[in-house]
Amino acid sequence: MIAVIAGLFGLLIGSFLNVCIVRLPADQSVVTPRSRCPRCGQPIQWWDNIPVLSWLLLSGRCRSCREPISTLYPLVELAVGLLWAVVAFRYGPGMEALTAALFGTMLIGIAVTDARSYIIPNEFTWGGLALGLVLAAGSGASALLAALLGAAAGFSLLWVVGVIGKWAFREEAMGGGDIKMMAMVGAFLGWQGTLLTVFLGALIGSLVFVPLTLAGHKKLVPFGIFLALGAAATYLVGPAILTWYGGYLGRT
Ligand SMILES: [Zn+2]
Repeated sequence: MIAVIAGLFGLLIGSFLNVCIVRLPADQSVVTPRSRCPRCGQPIQWWDNIPVLSWLLLSGRCRSCREPISTLYPLVELAVGLLWAVVAFRYGPGMEALTAALFGTMLIGIAVTDARSYIIPNEFTWGGLALGLVLAAGSGASALLAALLGAAAGFSLLWVVGVIGKWAFREEAMGGGDIKMMAMVGAFLGWQGTLLTVFLGALIGSLVFVPLTLAGHKKLVPFGIFLALGAAATYLVGPAILTWYGGYLGRT
């Protein structure tokens, strides 16, 4: 029951996240004006703006001009809805579920915005960092200290990687958005989780981009997607990996 309510709430959050994904890179307000069809300019009524359902009922087209509406919108809504349902089911109602749901929602927002616009908006990075620190402070001074340490680790690690990359490749290797994003991730995952996130992100990124580059595609790398995947993986299985690695080091 809790999972169903959380899932429905997640769909609404996902709907708002779509607005953020489209408007934040263009520096537009996410509050006003009401969403319009980009082709005919017709304002979208609330009954045509019900997450996932409206898109299905309209067969993915604008009601007035039949312009196709991107499948990205219902997919983001579905992903956020599922995320909120799953964490509510997994952790039960409480701070742990809320923290996981908010962190996951911002990672989805970052990944999709970076893929669409090659931008990671400050609202997700600095805003997420502030949120992570506040949530950690709610669990006491030692949690806040761990979050601050994680944020500092994430920021400085990516900054150093950026400086080295610029020196080695003579071009911007690491965007400012990636650096700020890892400060946010560090606040949620701590410094060990931050190192694991960067490692996993680079690993997943290489697995995708090395074949593409060899095949002759030369494209800008939205690294935020892979950092977001790495952070999600670290959140889910990071403690198990770090424990295994610690045991592995202990044996050798
Ligand atoms: Zn239209």
